[in-house]
Amino acid sequence: MFTVTLKPKRDRPTRQGHPWIFSGAIAAVDGRPSIGEPVRICSASGDILGVGAWSPESQIRVRMWRFGSDAPIDEAFFREKVTSALAIRAEMGARFQTNALRLINAEADGLPGITVDRYADVLSGQFATAGAVWAKPLVVPLLMELTGASSFYDRSDVDGLAHEGLPQTTGLLAGVEPPERVVIQEGDVQFEVDVRNGHKTGYYLDQRESRRIVATYAVGKTLLNTFCYTGGFGIAAQKAGAKAVTQVDISAPALALARANTVLNGFAEADTEFIQGNVFQVLRGFRDRGRTFDVVVLDPPKFADTRSQTMKALRGYKDVNLMGIKLVAKGGYLATFSCSGAITPDLFRTVVAEAARDAGRTLRIIQELRQAPDHVEALNFPEGLYLKGLLCYVE
Ligand code: SAH
Repeated sequence: MFTVTLKPKRDRPTRQGHPWIFSGAIAAVDGRPSIGEPVRICSASGDILGVGAWSPESQIRVRMWRFGSDAPIDEAFFREKVTSALAIRAEMGARFQTNALRLINAEADGLPGITVDRYADVLSGQFATAGAVWAKPLVVPLLMELTGASSFYDRSDVDGLAHEGLPQTTGLLAGVEPPERVVIQEGDVQFEVDVRNGHKTGYYLDQRESRRIVATYAVGKTLLNTFCYTGGFGIAAQKAGAKAVTQVDISAPALALARANTVLNGFAEADTEFIQGNVFQVLRGFRDRGRTFDVVVLDPPKFADTRSQTMKALRGYKDVNLMGIKLVAKGGYLATFSCSGAITPDLFRTVVAEAARDAGRTLRIIQELRQAPDHVEALNFPEGLYLKGLLCYVE
């Protein structure tokens, strides 16, 4: 194993268990490790800090596999990591009444770059870093063995691989070809998931608990679900007894799946209002016509990928929240989200507060919302909290 030596005084994050080592912290490498290969990490004084994966092209030059020892990164290592990730989720299927869970949440599960979701019997994964790609041949068979899944589909069509100098990959990794649509259960709601073409690994499991919570506020009410994707918040609300649901998305394939999911759950397509269009324009149209809703859900895509895009993202969140708040009927609810990791919960509150002020409405937070619990957060990796939301009562 090659050794990477850190600069003096640059070993603190690693000693504290942070999984990332930036290129600027590295003093020397005693050879030319290949892309993704495990390397020994040593402090300037020669202490062994652990083993990480070598990313020669990325600013994040090393992602740590293990801390405090230079024992090998082999099948036994991954078996232990995967087993403990599965143990964390062992009771979650029953607790959250679902057969779809995030099984491996990358850094937060000690497996940087590796994300694996389970949709019924189908595993769908992203291997987004050099180390993750290197580990793929070890991790895939282990997950097949330990979960008993029938398929493992690769959805490593992620932008991050470009930073690693690696190509994107998709396709079957193990088992049989998954069905065109995998039907999953979330409580008493069913959803069709397209693991080949859907977003990320196919679907947004991270909003599962928020869909359930928001639905309970929509009983007998009208609900506007913006950025609806495959209809999640709207269909959960219908199942809970919402009076009328409006689903808005810019993507035709997403709306097609939203319609299919509506029917799958026993509702007539004609009873839901589906609008294909840009949310910003659609909301303006509602405002001009004086239309309001009892519950408004705002779940936009990531507006900021990096810290440098934060300012632009903040304007986007402010605009969408301003328009959304204006459409909430007096005494109604707003469920508003941000999935940009660069936007902290405090910053998000500030933006929503500004939007409320500009809209001339008073908002009270009833509940803070987060990524679902199977998307565990690690205390040594605060970057792992990306999805946050506010459920507000609007006066
Ligand atoms: N709430 C969803 C996930 C939303 S993902 C769930 O619970 O599953 C974000 C969605 O926003 C995507 O479907 C994307 O097509 C849509 N989108 C992105 N920009 C948009 C815009 N300007 N107007 C309307 N929809 C948009």
